[in-house]
Amino acid sequence: MVLQTLQTIEGSVLRLRFVGRFDEDAALMPIEFGKVSRVEIDLTEVKSINSCGVRSWIEWTSKFPKSIPISIFSAPKVFVDQLNRVAGFCPDQTKFESFYVPYYCELCSSSENTLFVAGNHYIGFQIRGLRTPLTCKKCPDQILIPDFSGATYFAFLKRAA
Ligand SMILES: [Zn+2]
Repeated sequence: MVLQTLQTIEGSVLRLRFVGRFDEDAALMPIEFGKVSRVEIDLTEVKSINSCGVRSWIEWTSKFPKSIPISIFSAPKVFVDQLNRVAGFCPDQTKFESFYVPYYCELCSSSENTLFVAGNHYIGFQIRGLRTPLTCKKCPDQILIPDFSGATYFAFLKRAA
């Protein structure tokens, strides 16, 4: 699926929602900032990012004025992996409002991504984690275990702090 960008403006807040894959076919439109005072980017439906996608994302976001805060919502694991791998993947003025964290079941290997939200599951780079453990939808009472190393997966928050 070619990347789609859905754009809405509410007051001075520009909201962007991406759907699809960040790859060589992803066309990121230059933004007309005009009266925009803040950008909110929803990444829930981003399926994958390859090296071309990484390059276009960095090129595109680096043109954002430094005075305009960027808030990122619902970053999927594919995006978090790039955040941890690539220095400067997001501009300095980026705040991470929520992102997905992978868990899995030891018995049936099914996996589940759960959303961590700023102010609830983490504050700044301090991770509070889940208040109640996740259980497997297929295996009764089986608690899902983290499919990540905390030191690695949450490293981008420290960098952004
Ligand atoms: Zn299970």
